[in-house]
Amino acid sequence: MVMQAIRNYLKSLFLLEMLKGLLLTNRYLFKRKITVQYPEEKTPQSNRFRGLHALRRYPNGEERCIACKLCEAVCPAVAITIESEMRADGSRRTTRYDIDLAKCIYCGFCEESCPVDSIVMTRIFEYHGEKKEDLIMTKQRLLEVGDRNEAQIAADRAQDARYR
Ligand code: SF4
Ligand code: SF4
Repeated sequence: MVMQAIRNYLKSLFLLEMLKGLLLTNRYLFKRKITVQYPEEKTPQSNRFRGLHALRRYPNGEERCIACKLCEAVCPAVAITIESEMRADGSRRTTRYDIDLAKCIYCGFCEESCPVDSIVMTRIFEYHGEKKEDLIMTKQRLLEVGDRNEAQIAADRAQDARYR
């Protein structure tokens, strides 16, 4: 007990804890810097990155989504709202497909559940909303994101064993 008290006294007298801290700082002073100067510099992204959602089309322009509602059912945050109707040709398509980004937890379950690879999560992470409505991704907005990023989405899937 007395020895411990003496040790502690000497430690504080000679600032040993501070010296240990400075030694640690010195050890990293000349190492390669790992700080990234965002937004000029970006860290690498996985091809499975879960960013902003998109709805995809087939090469002929037809929507992939068949309104099965699996994504809506599996979403743990209840962020997806789908309404659908039967077309004249007998196919079922959505009339409404909304994702509330304020509720979404970016778990990727919607993407995993989709049988036709329609709802996907892109690499886009730099977006914001100033009003609540800005964070509602409507079907139109989701399709536009898909159309703009189809090349990257397809390339990411081509690398991913889950989609082979
Ligand atoms: S990523 Fe998860 S929380 Fe977000 S919409 Fe898809 S299933 Fe729902
Ligand atoms: S996005 Fe996929 S899982 Fe969701 S309703 Fe359409 S086809 Fe079904």
